[in-house]
Formats: sequence, C-alpha cells, structure tokens
Amino acid sequence: MSKLLLGCIADDFTGATDLANNLVRAGMRVVQAIGVPATPLDAEVDAVVVALKSRTIAPAEAIAQSLDALRWLQAQGAQQIYFKYCSTFDSTPQGNIGPVTEALMDALQCDFTIATPAFPDNKRTVFKGYLFAGDVLLNESGMQNHPLTPMTDANLVRVLQAQCTRKVGLVDHTVVARGDAAITECITQLKSEGVSIAMVDAVSNDDLLRLGPALAKMPLVTAGSGVAIGLPANFGLSPSSQASALPPAGGLRAVVSGSCSLATNRQVLDFIQRGGAALAVDPLRIAAGVDVAAEALAWAAPLVAKQPVLVYSTAEAGAVKSVQGKLGVEEAGAMVERTIAAIARGLVDNGVRQLVVAGGETSGACVQALGIAQMQIGPQIDPGVPWCHARAEAADGAGVHIALKSGNFGGDDFFTKAFTVLA
Ligand code: ADP
Repeated sequence: MSKLLLGCIADDFTGATDLANNLVRAGMRVVQAIGVPATPLDAEVDAVVVALKSRTIAPAEAIAQSLDALRWLQAQGAQQIYFKYCSTFDSTPQGNIGPVTEALMDALQCDFTIATPAFPDNKRTVFKGYLFAGDVLLNESGMQNHPLTPMTDANLVRVLQAQCTRKVGLVDHTVVARGDAAITECITQLKSEGVSIAMVDAVSNDDLLRLGPALAKMPLVTAGSGVAIGLPANFGLSPSSQASALPPAGGLRAVVSGSCSLATNRQVLDFIQRGGAALAVDPLRIAAGVDVAAEALAWAAPLVAKQPVLVYSTAEAGAVKSVQGKLGVEEAGAMVERTIAAIARGLVDNGVRQLVVAGGETSGACVQALGIAQMQIGPQIDPGVPWCHARAEAADGAGVHIALKSGNFGGDDFFTKAFTVLA
C-alpha cells in the first residue's frame, strides 16, 4: 500500500467534507474518517481527513482528540499534517484554534506554521490580516452574533495571538503576490523576530496556489479548506478524474432533508414542482407520539422501486419558529434529527444505495444511524458537496453512495442533479 501523503484533522464534520472535496479536485484520492479510526487505514489513498467535533468543546478535550488523530495519522505514515478549521475562523477567546495548533506543533516538534482561513471560492479573503466574509469584515458579517463562537474582531493576528503563547505574525499580501521565494524569505525573517505562527493574506485562488510551494517542507499547516488547493502539487499530483473515481452506483435512490435553510427550501420545492415523489414530516406529529418514521417508510416502499423519493422536514422560518415555540428549539431539533436518521436507516435497510442527505446536523445523525465510519470522496455535485462512497452497517457492510449537503449549499435543482451526476 502506498504511504499516506497528507493527514488532516478537521474540527467539524461538514468542514471535513469541504476540505476533502478541495483535495480531490486538486488531484488527491481522499477518505474522510468519522472520528479517529479504531483500525489501520485499509484504502489506497493520498490523504485522510479525520472529522472531529472539537470546535466548541473545552480546549483540553479538543487538544486530546486532535493529538489522538495525529497519532493515528502518523501511524499511517502521513508526511504532512493539516489542521482544518472554519473559513470564518470560528473560535472562542480560549480557542480552540490556537491551543490545538500549539499542541500539534509541540507534538511534531515544529518551529513554524501558518494559519489562514482564506477560501476565495467561498468569498472568504484575508487582507492585512483582516478576514472578510463577502464584502464586509468578519465582525460585520453576522458572525459577531453567532450563538457559540461570536467573532467580534476581524483582525486574525490579534484573535489568534489571544489564543496562543507563541508569537503570531503576518505574511502580508505584498509578499504573497511575489510568490514562493518571497514568502519563504518572509518566513525566515519572521522566525528571526521570534514569530512561530504566521497569518497569511490571500484574496484569490492564485494567492493560494502561490502559497502552496512555500509550504512543501512544513510538517504542519493550519488553515480553512482553501489552502488545500495548492498542496497536492507539492506531491507531484495534478487534477484528474481518477482522484474522484468511485465504484459504480446501483440500488434505489432517495433524499432525506432536515435542513430548513433557504437553499434547501428552494430545492424541496424544485423537486416537487418537477413531479418528484415527496413526503413532508410534521414535527408536531412526532411529538404527539406517532411513529412518523414507520409511516414514511410505508409510503416510500412502493414508490422508491420506480423513482427517487424525498422525505423532508424542511420548512420555512415561520413554521420552524412556531414548532420551536411549542416544543423548544433543542428538543424540536433533536427529535426531527432522530426521525430523519431513522428514515434514512430504514430506506437503506430496504435497498436504497444512493442517498442524499440535506442538513449539517442532520448529516451527522444520518451517518451515525447508518453505521458509517469512513467515506471515500468522489465527484462534486455542486461546490462543496461531493458524492461519497461508504460501507454501511445498515447495508450489511455493502457500499452506499451518499451525499451530505450542508444548509445553504447547492443549486435549486440539487436533488435532481445529484442522481444525474452519479449516473
Ligand atoms: P442546516 O445545514 O440547514 O443548518 P441542520 O441539519 O444542521 O441543517 O439543522 C437543521 C435543524 O433544524 C436540525 O436540528 C433539524 O432537526 C431541525 N429541524 C428540521 N426541520 C424542522 C422543523 N420543521 N421544525 C423545527 N426544527 C426542524
């Protein structure tokens, strides 16, 4: 078996898929592991992304999980480590980006690394150390009101410095624009000034591609998913359809959706308007004790043999608020997630082998219910959302094609297009 080139540690689930997707598009064969695997890697791949859920847990616990992931990746021979966080640098004043970065540096005996959440394809750019989301600074983007990780300062040198004991510096845009040699020279200069971690400006994919070669010898890279586009070339890899090749798809087709994002609402409507077979799940009936999952599976049974079916709890903001008012926000969310996951499990039990799941939290619940531990990343359906292939307990260990779409990703025709891409 070939040696693992890149070992990645992601601080949340859909972020891991986002990174994996970028690596595949740049030419790497990638597997995403749900948590730290208990057994050695048994696939022929260039990179593994270990998906943790460490973004908002206590720093000590985030460090422990990340070091656990590091040890597993090192045991698989990983030549370089990539710590992946959110493109909006989601963190609390305590971390966990800084503490995890420093713990990984200690473990790798790494004296210098970079940090940048820049992801221009997704309108996240860093200039003079300030992060922009679209046309506005991070702290004006709505992220200042995030319930778990409010980001009130767009100056990421300052934000990261507050989380670190090591000195944080900046490789600014005038340097990045001049390319590899200038970046390397700047890093040498920063090191002589006692800097150990450098925020890096990047406002375009060209910047990230110029940055790539300067990172070739770094044991550790920390970034959002954007930097990934410049790394495979360091290992002699270039974009190819081979990287995203999955086993042929077969079996029945279905979509389950627990996302209430605007894009998903449009996607559900589009599927129905095209004449698709769709069933709405009513949270209030779940709360009343009705076995809504069994009902949905009975409804789907005769239809799914002939065409893709959609089961959804997706609703518009007003309806969601009203349900939340009656049941409580968390209780409503957890109940709907459990039901959608049970439906996904039942559909796969009944022969579905091509499954689209809409919703970030919903995806986590479904992957768990299906008994999936690792996913091979395949071709992209729409930006940020690839088809994956996984062995699932729910399919008695057989392969299932699965696409996990977080909230606002995907065009209106996503639920139709997804199956076309696979065919
Ligand atoms: P997204 O990626 O769009 O944010 P998530 O799955 O992460 O989607 O989150 C959606 C949350 O809303 C889940 O907890 C889900 O169970 C919950 N939910 C889904 N449908 C409804 C509904 N009709 N009423 C209330 N909550 C809902």
